[in-house]
Amino acid sequence: MEKRALLYEGKAKMVYQVDDPDLCLIYFKDSATAFNALKKGEIAEKGAMNNAISAHFFALLAKEGVESHFIRSLSQREMLVRRLEIIKIEVVVRNIVAGSLAKRLGWPEGVVLAEPVIEHYYKDDSLGDPLLNDDHLRVLNLATAAELATITRLSKQVNAVLKHYLETKNILLVDFKLEFGRCLGKIILGDEISPDTCRFWDATTKEKLDKDRFRRDLGQVAEAYREILERLQGGQNSVQG
Ligand code: UDP
Repeated sequence: MEKRALLYEGKAKMVYQVDDPDLCLIYFKDSATAFNALKKGEIAEKGAMNNAISAHFFALLAKEGVESHFIRSLSQREMLVRRLEIIKIEVVVRNIVAGSLAKRLGWPEGVVLAEPVIEHYYKDDSLGDPLLNDDHLRVLNLATAAELATITRLSKQVNAVLKHYLETKNILLVDFKLEFGRCLGKIILGDEISPDTCRFWDATTKEKLDKDRFRRDLGQVAEAYREILERLQGGQNSVQG
């Protein structure tokens, strides 16, 4: 599959055209940003690790009946995907309080939510991805009511599948962000699923194994991504002790 023109360059990925107009190639970079790109850095081998971790999750979800743009990995850092018309909504699913929800509610991080909480943010960097309520969603008209219902159903399904699966790896799925797009009249999952877009905590120690290590200068950033990849690849979890 030949790489053609660069279609889009984001903070962590580049998207290229390929010979087939219905497909794209995603190249995963090592660059990392946080706080609406105020903090910038590099995480060694992040691109390769996020490509492998995302491929793993997309393949698992496909087996469980959740369609995504993922077709196959092309190389260490490259993934072949279906071309989507991206919906400008970031869907965040939360199982445990952390990050911006801890700030918004004044609750400590780590409180287990009675049920998964779903939030929608407007995917617009110039606005700092603001939180949207149902009325905002309606007037913005970024997706139809039927599409939003599908997005919510799929987001809950992704949460159930990943949360269960990660439990077998001794990992807590704290929260994560999804993006969806339109493809041949259907809504399917796009973007990536990686420690850049999810919070993963070791279930025993509650150690953070995700981008919060970069955001909060906790050190051992690349090591945390590697730990996630290794736990996914190993049949068993690799918990200490
Ligand atoms: N997230 C993301 N991209 C964003 C914002 C959030 O992937 O632009 C992910 C983030 O990694 C976390 C979840 O969505 O897993 C919830 O993030 P939160 O709202 O707590 O924001 P943060 O504290 O990361 O600013």
